[in-house]
Amino acid sequence: MQDLIAVVDLGASKILNGIATAQGEILVKEKFPTNPENGPADIIDRIADSIRKLSSWCGDYESQIVRVVAATPGPLSYPEGVVVDSPNLAWARVPFKDELSKRLVKPVIVEKDTNLAALGEYYFGRQGQPRSLLYITVSTGIGGGIILDGRIWRGHKGGAGEIGHMVVEPQGRACNCGRRGCLEALASGAAIRHQVSELRQQGKGIGIVALGNAKKDIGAEEVGEAARRGDAEALTLVSRVVEYLGRAVANLVNIFNPEIVVLGGGVALGWQDLILERLNLDVKKEVFAINTQDLKIEITSLGEDIVLYGGIAAALQKSGI
Ligand SMILES: [Zn+2]
Repeated sequence: MQDLIAVVDLGASKILNGIATAQGEILVKEKFPTNPENGPADIIDRIADSIRKLSSWCGDYESQIVRVVAATPGPLSYPEGVVVDSPNLAWARVPFKDELSKRLVKPVIVEKDTNLAALGEYYFGRQGQPRSLLYITVSTGIGGGIILDGRIWRGHKGGAGEIGHMVVEPQGRACNCGRRGCLEALASGAAIRHQVSELRQQGKGIGIVALGNAKKDIGAEEVGEAARRGDAEALTLVSRVVEYLGRAVANLVNIFNPEIVVLGGGVALGWQDLILERLNLDVKKEVFAINTQDLKIEITSLGEDIVLYGGIAAALQKSGI
């Protein structure tokens, strides 16, 4: 009987759970909506139920699941695993680690989702090769993870990596964090949706709107498709997003001089063909020459499982396997 690891990726809109081997093979997965309006207890109950169910499909829960690693959006107090104040989940001071551990009767590690994504990319995407790696997720929001000398850099109190709240346009759109012109307010999936709805209110964006489905908000998917068809408004929108991302990545590259910057998340994965080349050009134009030497800017190959892979990597480090 082999040891197994349970991994949880708790996001604002969906939860992705998986059971994996210590070699990094994900055996089973389950995705379901978060429904944060039902409150933390309901979410933690459903996560625990799902883990027990998935485990029963792979082996014996009591004897084979050796560790549980759960990712949450930040900010998170470390190592207590208390979600301090998550606007997306509407959680304030939720002792997630203790509550999940109580329900599962297993040791639980809780880590910020973007830190785990960075760790997943580092171990499973890059085989632990680079000494320094920056990970940026561009999805509904924008977040980041920093790997320095092969370790997650959490900062003094665990708050490092909030790349989404780097100001890239001082007079720009208001951000959920209370400031103006943050990268997240201008280049995230939510920001793209917002810009499409502004176009619609002005009677514009017809080429984008025509690709939409009446049942869901029109966002990055439709904008990307319209841009591929040559729609001018969609191309302008994509171009603006790349410009802001480029500005933020250039700042980070000049500060950290990383070997590699990796982008993930739904918008980056879906827009790879539209943004990657231009982003490379923009960043390399803006940073000091020494920081462009061997610099790589790429999109993750781990897709939406990146956080689960990070959970496996965290479990392996902790248990010394
Ligand atoms: Zn902000």
